[in-house]
Amino acid sequence: MTNGRTTNARSTNEHDAVRELLPLAAAGVLDAAEEARLTAHIRLCPDCDANLGAWQQLGAGLRRIPTPRASSALIERTIALTQSRLTQESDRRSERRIVTLVLIFSWAFVAISWPLAQLLAHGWESLLGFGFEQGWENFVVFTAICWMSGGAAAVLLAMRRSRERKLA
Ligand SMILES: [Zn+2]
Repeated sequence: MTNGRTTNARSTNEHDAVRELLPLAAAGVLDAAEEARLTAHIRLCPDCDANLGAWQQLGAGLRRIPTPRASSALIERTIALTQSRLTQESDRRSERRIVTLVLIFSWAFVAISWPLAQLLAHGWESLLGFGFEQGWENFVVFTAICWMSGGAAAVLLAMRRSRERKLA
């Protein structure tokens, strides 16, 4: 062992340097100079030769592990599944969409008509903030009425739709 390390190719420095190259060599990412250095060292160093073999086996094993790449068949199946779920849910979802629209409409109605109502009832100064303090209770009632009428419309729509579906 001791006399083996005296030759240049088996010097400890070279040995350590080449050992670091072994995993890279197994991965096949060495450049030409490194490749030549490794080959020269391995010819004289059975340790590194064996080590390289182990790394190569490990590398081959890793390559055999199936990479989680989605095949086109899997993608197609997923799309088909998603679409069938979407059609199943589309009825429920369109109902939800109607309710959402009605609620948005209610809010928009409140937002637009409240200042108008104030304007008609109290004139311009109500829009500038005067009149708001005594008006906020009215605003709550007004909003509640809008929401209730919106909610009632949504419920009526949903009921009519489910009746239609039962008839169909
Ligand atoms: Zn070596």
